Formats: sequence, structure tokens, C-alpha cells
Amino acid sequence: NLQPVSVIGLGMMGTAIAQTFLKEGHPTTVWNRTPGKAEALVMQGAKLANTVNEAIAASPIVVICVLDYGAVDDILEGAGEILAGRAIVNLTNGTPAQGRRTAAWVTERGADYLDGGIMAVPQMIGTSGALVLYSGSEKVFQAYQPMLKGLGAVNDLGEDPGLASLYDLVLLSAMYGMFGGFFQATAMIRSEQIQAEAFTELVVPWLQAMSASLPLMAQAVDAGEHRTNVSSLSINQTGFVNFIEVCQEQGISTELMTPIQGLITGSEKLSLVRKRKHLKKIPKA
Ligand code: NDP
Repeated sequence: NLQPVSVIGLGMMGTAIAQTFLKEGHPTTVWNRTPGKAEALVMQGAKLANTVNEAIAASPIVVICVLDYGAVDDILEGAGEILAGRAIVNLTNGTPAQGRRTAAWVTERGADYLDGGIMAVPQMIGTSGALVLYSGSEKVFQAYQPMLKGLGAVNDLGEDPGLASLYDLVLLSAMYGMFGGFFQATAMIRSEQIQAEAFTELVVPWLQAMSASLPLMAQAVDAGEHRTNVSSLSINQTGFVNFIEVCQEQGISTELMTPIQGLITGSEKLSLVRKRKHLKKIPKA
């Protein structure tokens, strides 16, 4: 006898989540603001709730996955006493502050709150390739772990309901940086009429090799140790001019590279200022 679950929000992600619970055999109740989106799920065996409160009342665990926390607020606004004693698992993307605020609001109404960050696209939900980061109520995480593992691999970040959002945004920051760099590279290669796909055999192992240096860089940041015997700031400043020039020559936007150049130049200026200040402090002989 598998635990009943309610899924609120049937966009691309919520639908994939509800489908996975149904496939696993959980009695699944669904609700979406626009009712038509529940039809396919109902055909697959889901029970349609007519109101948010009906969806919440149907199960001890309620999974919410909607656009943003504004939508979460709209949904929870009308749910008062009905929340008491239930587990609210919010997989909506947001900020740590939003997660903590929602946790406090839900907990005040007698429910337990677990926040989650989904590191997968809907097609990956229910496979081992999906990862969901969780933080908040340890009680909920422990009680429903087998069910949550049905969605994908789990990573428990502890009791602070803000950490799932933080780690989610941290990982996405690294991802967007990589994608931005990759698309800059594709524009550059295509400016010479070379297919982008042709250079992926070079760029993939290159990025893998570069990522091997990340733990050492992280150690240096943690230690506040910014000296280098690898590649000086001035050599990077000089070399970086070529990125801007090649874009201008090939008729490609410099929108991505110019701010990076600004950071490299800016930090050098900053360190010169620091050095000067430092020198001033040294007493004259
Ligand atoms: P969709 O745009 O497909 O769905 C958005 C959902 O939010 C719909 O069910 C929509 O209802 C609902 N919604 C929006 N505003 C409100 C509101 N004011 N009140 C009630 N419901 C509302 O988005 P996804 O399903 O793709 O994404 C959902 C969440 O999952 C987001 O936080 C997203 O960042 C996260 N996520 C998505 C990933 C993806 O690859 N898709 C990957 C990882 C995380 P309606 O149908 O009525 O418009």
C-alpha cells in the first residue's frame, strides 16, 4: 500500500512528477489553476481535485511545483487549518529567503515543510539521471524518502529550508556560465563557416580538463590565497584583448566578453590600489 500524494501545479515539471508517482502506484490527486492540464493524468488514473483545499485534504504529503513563489503564495493563501499535520514539499524554483519565508508560514499553520531544487528536465524525472536537492524538515525527508527517490536521486542538505534553493542556484550559476561560454565559442567557429558540431569533439574534453582544476581553485578561494605560479593576471589582461578583437573582426557581439574583461582589468586596478595602500603603511627607514 503506497502512500497517497497530491501534486499541485501541472506544468511540464508538475505533470512529469505526477506521472512518475502514478507509475509507481501512489494514489495521486492533482490540481492545476487551468483545469484542462489534468485531463491526460486523470486518464492515467489520477484523481482530479476541484480546489486547492480539496487537493491538500486528499493526502498526507502535498508536492507543489509551479512557476515561482508568487504562484506558491497564491495557492497557499486560501489554505489555512487544512495544512495542519501535513507534509508540504515545495519543488518550485526560488531564492533561499523565499524558501525560509514559506517554511515559516507553513510551519506556523502546523504543517512540516521540505524545500526542493530539481536538477533535471521533466523528461529525466523518474530516472537515475535526475537529482533533487532537499532541505528543511528532516522528519518529512525521512518519512517520505522512498517516495522522493522515485523522482530521482536525492541529496539531503539538512534542516535549513533555504539551502535547497541556494545550492540549486549555485549549480545553475556554474551551468549558465558554461553555456554562455559555449555559445560564444559556437558563434566564433561559425563565423568561419565551420559547423558548431564539428568542434564539440574538441570543446567537450577541453571543458572536462578545465573542470579538473575547480577543486584547487575552490581551495585557493577558501584560503584567501590569490597568488599564482600558473598564469599571471597581466598575461590574461593582454591575452583577453584578442577575444574582443576577434569578435569585432568576425562581426560577433562582444556583450559577453566585455564585462569579463572589465572584471579582469578591474581586479588588477584594485590590487594596485591595495599595494599602494600597503606601501604607505610601511614606516620610512
Ligand atoms: P510551466 O510553465 O510548464 O508550468 C508553470 C505552472 O505554474 C503551471 O501549472 C501554471 O498553471 C502554474 N502557475 C503559474 N502561476 C500560477 C499562479 N499564480 N497560481 C497557480 N498556479 C500558477 O513550468 P515548469 O513546470 O517547467 O516549471 C515549474 C517549476 O519547476 C519552476 O519553478 C521551474 O523553475 C522548476 N523547474 C523546471 C525545470 C524544467 O526543465 N522545466 C527544471 C528544473 C526546475 P497554469 O497551467 O494555470 O498556467
